[in-house]
Amino acid sequence: MPFSQLGLSPYVLPALQQALQQAGYLAPTPIQQQAVPLLLKGRDVVALAPTGSGKTAAYVLPALQRFFMATPRKPRVLAQLILVPTRELALQVSDVFTTLGRELPRRPHLVCAVGGVSINPQMMSLRGGADIVVATPGRLLDLLAHNALSLKQVQLLVLDEADRLLELGFGDELRQILAELPVKRQIALFSATFAADIEALAAAGLHEPQRLEI
Ligand code: AMP
Repeated sequence: MPFSQLGLSPYVLPALQQALQQAGYLAPTPIQQQAVPLLLKGRDVVALAPTGSGKTAAYVLPALQRFFMATPRKPRVLAQLILVPTRELALQVSDVFTTLGRELPRRPHLVCAVGGVSINPQMMSLRGGADIVVATPGRLLDLLAHNALSLKQVQLLVLDEADRLLELGFGDELRQILAELPVKRQIALFSATFAADIEALAAAGLHEPQRLEI
């Protein structure tokens, strides 16, 4: 199946296809084939998808389309939030957004909000708002406490490596973050395992999720 069959809009498909080709992505991986169409339809998804499966692009492509199709607003409105367990993963995810979004005529202002570095530059880059934030949970809560951002207009939340988020003890932070989101929002949870605590998290926050196992 080619990338053109995933349900991406003709408004974004040529630019995304060009970037995919430049990145050497010739055809979608199984998780991309399954997750992209569901996420474009607005469904909540729980996907069993290990590292190396291509899970990042599975949510980055729908996120880029959602950004591009939305009416631009000033200040920018945080509509998409990606939560990851580690700083390294946050940087990798940001790179995938940059790589796959590079041919779009309008590109998102993306802020990487991770711990272990000074909070001030992150607060500065959030000043005019952000379209997409890639964050670790502790730093996101710090930024919320500083009123540097709001989650009230988040439309899509991605929990990437949800099993690692819980292993690292971010369960309480995740529940606090979920409580800040609007009632009407889409959530995509990616995990390498389906342990009981993942099921509980999905049951608490997701709405009739479609389950994907590859
Ligand atoms: P991920 O599971 O998202 O960490 O991706 C694993 C690796 O596969 C990364 O190096 C990606 O650049 C690469 N990748 C993701 N999707 C594709 C694809 N459709 N074709 C070729 N490589 C891909």
